[in-house]
Amino acid sequence: MLQTIKRSTMKLKMIKCKCCGEDMPELRLTKYGYNFCVTCSDNGKGEGMKHGVPVMMGEGDHTWIETVIMNDDQYRAYNHNEKALKNLDKSGKAEMQDMDDDKNLYGPVIIKDVDGK
Ligand SMILES: [Zn+2]
Repeated sequence: MLQTIKRSTMKLKMIKCKCCGEDMPELRLTKYGYNFCVTCSDNGKGEGMKHGVPVMMGEGDHTWIETVIMNDDQYRAYNHNEKALKNLDKSGKAEMQDMDDDKNLYGPVIIKDVDGK
């Protein structure tokens, strides 16, 4: 998903993206708490991106689901492991849902950028 920021019409103070160094609206930081730009956000970069991930805890009959809040690094590591595990488990079964496209699955708990509105 790409968002176009119309710099010519939006008189926003610009600051540097902490992640890639490109200009981004200061509003992103002051209003939304992001120190990285939309592009980095869409690419899953940047700091402070939180994911609420339902994780099954326990073993056997004693399992429960906890929603674990992860930062982006943790989330990626977790996702990677999940994917690897599922690929092993499901080798003979139907193709798994593409976990790389999980932004929408966790949509309500991902703090998404709402710039440009
Ligand atoms: Zn950036």
